Order: sequence, then structure tokens, then C-alpha cells
Amino acid sequence: MFTCPSCNREINSQTNDCFCGADLTILQTLGSVADAWFNKAIESLHENQTGRALEWIAACCSARPDDINALFVLAKIWIKLNCIHEARNVFERIKRLEPDHSEIANFEVFFEKCDQNQSIK
Ligand SMILES: [Zn+2]
Repeated sequence: MFTCPSCNREINSQTNDCFCGADLTILQTLGSVADAWFNKAIESLHENQTGRALEWIAACCSARPDDINALFVLAKIWIKLNCIHEARNVFERIKRLEPDHSEIANFEVFFEKCDQNQSIK
């Protein structure tokens, strides 16, 4: 799903023209490029190439800053790399975008544990 830049209408289907007449070909192309980046990230994760996965998913997230799925993958990769500060920043972004998401609670618990561990040290 994406938004038409000239009329701000949400568009779901694979179409090259918006109802308002705007040409959406470039957006479609960008969308499929971002999809490819997302898939590359998942692939790299499966191959345990966490650093590479981070590069792909970061590219995907900058192309689609409100893609919840991509942001969750980004947060999980930061956690995997033990970069809790970065993970938390991404998590705060997710929370602002979708406060009712089912995975939010799990993340809250995780970050609370991180805080407790740090205060013990
Ligand atoms: Zn439009």
C-alpha cells in the first residue's frame, strides 16, 4: 500500500495511474525495489549475515519509513547485534506508528529487562 503524492489517496492495488490522473509508475518501481531490499534482508538473516541484513533493511526502512514489518525486522537485527539503544529508537518509532501492535508488549518486557540488567551493573 502507498500514498499518491498528488492527492494523498491510499492506493492498494497494482496500478500505474491514480484516479486523480497522477502517474504512479515511479512509485510502483520504488515499492518493488523496497520489497526486494526487504527480501534480501530476510535472506541475509537466514544466512546469518547480520551485518548485511542490517544494510538491506535500513535501506528498506528509509524508502518506506512507516513500514511496520520492516521496522520490526530492523529492531530485531539491532537487538541481535546487541545495539539496544538503536533497537529502542526503532521500537519507539513502531510504537508511535502502531501503538496496538501485538508484538509491542514483548518488546516492552525485553527493554525493561535490559534496563534492570544495566542498573545491576
Ligand atoms: Zn492521486
